[in-house]
Amino acid sequence: MKAFRCGDVVPGCARAFTGTEDEILAEVARHAQADHGLTEVPAELVERVRGAMVVA
Ligand SMILES: [Zn+2]
Repeated sequence: MKAFRCGDVVPGCARAFTGTEDEILAEVARHAQADHGLTEVPAELVERVRGAMVVA
C-alpha cells in the first residue's frame, strides 16, 4: 500500500489517498478533475504524484 497527500503537490489541498499506486493515480485523476479543474493529468504531474507517494 502507498499513500499520497495532494497537499504535497497542490499546496493547501487537504485530500489524502491510500491504495496501490494505480489506484491512487486513478483517484488523483478524478480528484484533480473535480476539485482542481484539470481536464487531464499531465505526465509531469503523474511523475510528481509518484514521487510524493510514501509506503503506507
Ligand atoms: Zn487536491
